[in-house]
Amino acid sequence: MTDTLRTASIPATPPLIEAPVCGVHGCGSKTTCAKPYCTDHVLCHPYARRVRDLHEESLREQQRAVENGTRSVRTAGIMAQDVIQIVKAAGVITTKQLRRSFGLTPKAADVYVAALVGRKILKARKNAGRAGAIELRLSRGAS
Ligand SMILES: [Zn+2]
Repeated sequence: MTDTLRTASIPATPPLIEAPVCGVHGCGSKTTCAKPYCTDHVLCHPYARRVRDLHEESLREQQRAVENGTRSVRTAGIMAQDVIQIVKAAGVITTKQLRRSFGLTPKAADVYVAALVGRKILKARKNAGRAGAIELRLSRGAS
């Protein structure tokens, strides 16, 4: 039985769908996964530009937080909302996990945590059982 399978010829099949060509005039590169633009022109897509713009705004927010402290943290800002949402989803998260999740520097994470704890959105508690990890959770009524 296995000999039959090994020697069976497999007919060549044409690709099911021809890869689309990048939408930028004159590019000519094929795209993958039916995307409208190649990797060199991915920012021609409005969604990709929006993601890039949000990322850049988040980095500017983080820079302001590090330079100017807790007063510069806007609760409605991108990173503050990301922090709130990840704590909400996790239930409890350590500051180390928070830093890793968003690639935050220790200073930036400290400022965001201090700002959100100060505004009574988050609660922080040292857990002696986890090598002194600082655990974050939503304050009651902050969900
Ligand atoms: Zn292209």
